Amino acid sequence: MQNLYKETKFILEKYNIKANKSLGQNFLIDEETVNSIVDAANISGQDLIIEIGPGLGTLTQRIIEKAGKVICIELDSRMIDILEERFALYDNIKIIHEDVLKVNLNELIEKEKENTNITCAKIVANLPYYITTPIVMKLLEDKLDIESITIMIQKEVAQRLIAEPGDSLSGAITYGIHYYTEPEFVTEVSRNSFIPAPEVDSEVIKLNIKKKQDILVENEGRLFKIIKLAFMQRRKTLINALSNGNIFESKEQIENMLKELGIDTKIRGEKLTLEQFAQIANYKINK
Ligand code: SAM
Repeated sequence: MQNLYKETKFILEKYNIKANKSLGQNFLIDEETVNSIVDAANISGQDLIIEIGPGLGTLTQRIIEKAGKVICIELDSRMIDILEERFALYDNIKIIHEDVLKVNLNELIEKEKENTNITCAKIVANLPYYITTPIVMKLLEDKLDIESITIMIQKEVAQRLIAEPGDSLSGAITYGIHYYTEPEFVTEVSRNSFIPAPEVDSEVIKLNIKKKQDILVENEGRLFKIIKLAFMQRRKTLINALSNGNIFESKEQIENMLKELGIDTKIRGEKLTLEQFAQIANYKINK
């Protein structure tokens, strides 16, 4: 930790910078964690790595030596100045000053794949924790042509994302993660691995994008609407939770559907498997 700690302190002092808490700025100072993230991402010379929130460039420095190309997306203009100076001598980096939620990532990836020898795109990030969920959902819902997403996030959120659907830790987002990806735990990271230290511990996880969809639904929007509805009132029975949306006409209709699908009519939504939610989403109401 000593070297990265000194380097981070040095950069912060050199540019007279204080971490901006509202931007989720906690800078990584633990060499072992940097190694774990870079190793898990499995970076090669044909890879485009999109790094979200590069900050002072700690992870970027390691990624840039392995990747064919790095595209960094950072919101804080102070970080942009540092990154531009730090990586001025590299020709395989593009630094974008923008809110990642507003960036057309599909376009960026397509362009790189068309015009260079890049064959594969991967996302790597120590994410700003205040917008973890919107960023992860954007990465999945945009259906990017990527192989994996290796991210460090708050421990409790990581546990929810990679829980088995139906497990007590799972939430609506767990089903989204398992629909699009095969999630993997990488490592735990203590809050002391950052300056300033956040109030929570972290975990690194890797989301391997499914190459072929194994859960077949006719209407994804309907699937996720049903899952959200079930989790909005997770203590209620599924019949009661689903009767509050505009998807089904009556409790009786839901009960008949569950009977026909062989799903317990007393079950709570939080206990359903992803496959069962898919069966419900695919069910033709007036058959
Ligand atoms: N990668 C660095 C590291 O590991 O030390 C910094 C990680 S820090 C947890 C999160 C970074 O995300 C900060 O640099 C912050 O400025 C940036 N950030 C916050 N919101 C952002 C957004 N909406 N779009 C892009 N970057 C953002």
